[in-house]
Amino acid sequence: MEDKASSPEDDALRDKIRTLLANGLETEVWPRAETSEMVNQIVNRLQTEAGDDLKKTLKIGGFTDHTITADDMEQPCETCMYYLVHRKFCELPELDVPVEPEWSCRLWRI
Ligand code: SF4
Repeated sequence: MEDKASSPEDDALRDKIRTLLANGLETEVWPRAETSEMVNQIVNRLQTEAGDDLKKTLKIGGFTDHTITADDMEQPCETCMYYLVHRKFCELPELDVPVEPEWSCRLWRI
């Protein structure tokens, strides 16, 4: 995907997600997706349970508005292979949401 600048629509949705997380939306932060089986399981749940439902996507993805460290490894969006730097966006198709560099989810991948 082209890494263009963040659009006003992206910015508005990022603000909405920030508010949901700041207001204590409980998400499945643990366990992290450490094996390909777990990745498949979480992606499958995102496809079948979440769909276009933003809150369910954030819950199943285990989103946080801060960086999580797992196995002595920091897992911020900004070092994840799915992160678009200029757009500040997650391009994993099942997530497909604007994020901040210091946020994190359990599908983080290097
Ligand atoms: S997969 Fe998760 S950690 Fe990686 S960019 Fe997307 S939301 Fe951030």
